[in-house]
Amino acid sequence: MSKSLQAIRGMNDILPEQTPLWRYFEGTVARLLDNYGYRQIRMPIVEFTELFKRSIGEVTDIVEKEMYTFDDRNGDSLTLRPEGTAACVRAVLEHGITGGGQVQKLWYIGPMFRHERPQKGRYRQFHQIGLEVFNLDGPDIDAELIVMTWRLWGELGLRDAVKLELNSLGTSESRGRYREALVEFLSAHIDKLDEDSQRRLKTNPLRVLDTKNAETQAILVDAPKMADYLDDESRAHFEGLKARLDAVGIPYVINPKLVRGLDYYSKTVFEWVTDKLGAQGTVCAGGRYDGLVEQMGGKPTPGVGFAMGIERLVLMLEALDKVPEELSRQVDVYLCAFGEAAELAALSLSERIRDQLPNLRLQINAGAGSFKSQFKKADKSGALYALILGDDELAQQVVGFKPLRGQGEQQSIAWDALAAHLATCVVQG
Ligand code: ATP
Ligand code: MG
Repeated sequence: MSKSLQAIRGMNDILPEQTPLWRYFEGTVARLLDNYGYRQIRMPIVEFTELFKRSIGEVTDIVEKEMYTFDDRNGDSLTLRPEGTAACVRAVLEHGITGGGQVQKLWYIGPMFRHERPQKGRYRQFHQIGLEVFNLDGPDIDAELIVMTWRLWGELGLRDAVKLELNSLGTSESRGRYREALVEFLSAHIDKLDEDSQRRLKTNPLRVLDTKNAETQAILVDAPKMADYLDDESRAHFEGLKARLDAVGIPYVINPKLVRGLDYYSKTVFEWVTDKLGAQGTVCAGGRYDGLVEQMGGKPTPGVGFAMGIERLVLMLEALDKVPEELSRQVDVYLCAFGEAAELAALSLSERIRDQLPNLRLQINAGAGSFKSQFKKADKSGALYALILGDDELAQQVVGFKPLRGQGEQQSIAWDALAAHLATCVVQG
């Protein structure tokens, strides 16, 4: 197939074999967020480029080299969203729903776009579930976000495979003082820093802490620590968060080098990481951004949020064999009809059954075929039972009810009794 008729590198089809697991994951998260009182918001996928530059920061990996930016037909510069927070902040400001200190607990789901080198767990179109909370400034809400994710890992069977890393970046004032101390320290070692770090030292020095270069990392061992520069308020906030995590029994490690790639964070930052996915180990990341709303033209409004990468979590569920058994079966009952008259009867019978059992997953054979080939399809579908309707059954107004998974012998069931019978053996059984 010619290249222009293939999917774009790093942008994946999610095939029917994979979607049950995606829907299981998404459904589990959505239910959990509902239960905690979070409400869904849906933003457009494309925004003005300026929005991302202003919020994420000009000197970040995302804005410098990862955005899909293009001019539309009016000549406006637009960008496929690389993350959700910027658009969410824009939306709440535009609709005035955080005004007057109104609390908003919001979540969103959808595709994000970054021009990165595609590899396992890193794609150019990927999917996030994210959430943002506005107008709550205490550590209790930072804790709630983390407690919720901890519950999620519990429900998914992933608790043993993830680790929580925490740090506090302080207020912008204390971070400013720290930045100066770090720049002074690193400037004294500038010749030994890797090239990227030398550049970042001038543009975004905190990002040097993020380096993967071993020599630079060795130098950083003696670098000043953010913790020593924290203002009292940030320190108290961080202690408050830790106390709550301790109270619930959520283990964590303090990682003083955790700075996150985006400019807008303050105070709490956190990442859930795993060693089960190779290099792409962060499955959920976030933090507090008390200055962002104001920076984007709103009134001072505290905010905190996180986003998780769906691909990475789906990969983890697969790698750790945590895919629920029942996902392999998408059909409960498979109805095979033989002959024109029986097919017509099968259609109206199946609609009657659907009226009575709206949750039953009933598939009718389409395109008919021989008895043998229909039976093969029924078996392959994973259904628990096959229903057989041929001329004989039609004459007697019954169906052949055949267990496909070794649950007894075939029997004959009257049409009128079929829904009740199915209710006992499929829906509740
Ligand atoms: P990384 O350090 O892996 O590049 P990030 O700090 O850029 O991650 P965030 O912007 O915090 O990531 O996004 C939150 C989550 O979204 C990540 O923890 C990850 O699970 C997921 N994610 C980010 N970029 C990608 C990508 N290119 N492909 C797949 N998932 C991604
Ligand atoms: Mg990244």
